[in-house]
Amino acid sequence: SLGSSPERTKACIASALSKPSNIKVIARFRPLLDFEYRLSESRESVTFQGDNQVGIVKGKEIEYYTLDRIFDPDSSQEEVYEFVGKPTIEDVLNGYNGTIFAYGQTGSGKTHTMMGLNIYDTDTRGVIPRSVSQIFEAVESDGGDIEYTIKCSMLEIYKETLKDLLDPQPLNLKIKQCPSKGIYVQGLTEVSITSEDDMLELLSLGEQIRSVASTRLNKTSSRSHLIFIIEVCQKLPNDSEKRGKLNLVDLAGSEKVSLSGVTGTKLEETKKINLSLSALGNVIHALSSKADHIPYRDSKLTRLLQESLGGNYKTTLLVTCSPSIRFMEETYNTLSFAIRAKAIKNKVKINIKNSIDSYLQIIEQMKLELDSAKLE
Ligand code: ADP
Ligand code: MG
Repeated sequence: SLGSSPERTKACIASALSKPSNIKVIARFRPLLDFEYRLSESRESVTFQGDNQVGIVKGKEIEYYTLDRIFDPDSSQEEVYEFVGKPTIEDVLNGYNGTIFAYGQTGSGKTHTMMGLNIYDTDTRGVIPRSVSQIFEAVESDGGDIEYTIKCSMLEIYKETLKDLLDPQPLNLKIKQCPSKGIYVQGLTEVSITSEDDMLELLSLGEQIRSVASTRLNKTSSRSHLIFIIEVCQKLPNDSEKRGKLNLVDLAGSEKVSLSGVTGTKLEETKKINLSLSALGNVIHALSSKADHIPYRDSKLTRLLQESLGGNYKTTLLVTCSPSIRFMEETYNTLSFAIRAKAIKNKVKINIKNSIDSYLQIIEQMKLELDSAKLE
């Protein structure tokens, strides 16, 4: 047996420091768009109650959904960021892993929320550029005691193929797993970044590669998953190393791709387009019903983001919806998906490689907490 070896002590402390964390589930309703302003459609199908409840018209009834927070059509990018992005970036800077998923039908506001129209416009930009900005604010406000290494990658999953968006060479990238790195994409470009501007430039480069490919393959962007990864590593003065990994995910449109009238290779293609998204639904269903087997390996998306669903990640699911009566059915499906995800519990811990000194500090801290608990 290991007895009370330092390794065992470390393992015990690490496990004592890990704690359950629910997935945070949020919905955002966009405003009605011009094309929805026809009389028959402009009737809104939703009523908002407080800041976390929404009622959806279902036949003659109204069905209510309660999530962690519901943003109505008047909410600003900044308000959404304060609730969705800011706490996640704080976690990542504290050494946790974090993932934000945007889920919803095509046209419901996923890209608007995650990117915004223009990533350089500080008023209207979305969660991804704001996250980049917050990370570099933290770096700049540090007095120089911490040595930061910030790396980013950007990839797309389309028809179960991974595409590196920072390297236009079409490579057939594979997902691998190893004890030190966890689950990762082999050969994916990782760029070290030292400023907000550099990262925004990279972001627009990735977007360009994505949109060029998408006009060629007609509108793939609504059918592919975009994953932007930022890894922040901090070397602290006591020689400890804190590491937080952030996945920002703009998922493919959740509307059902109709299979009617599609045959042969076209049918296989259509099935593949939606495979990762239906696998995501299955994983969430399995986790929320506490099934023994969780089918992570059924798709590239669920395999790559396995740790974000039930593992060592603080995860936020943001679902986006149209308020129009025309999309009521999709809105209903989206909110049902959100409700299921709320039941998932992850188990998170700080990723820290400690020096002996910092372990002694942690033990001291725990002693103090125990003593003060005894006094109460
Ligand atoms: P998705 O990425 O889900 O397909 P988009 O983000 O592209 O949808 O949004 C579709 C359209 O709706 C775009 O023209 C976008 O500018 C607009 N839109 C989406 N959300 C909002 C919002 N919260 N406020 C204003 N316009 C929005
Ligand atoms: Mg989009």
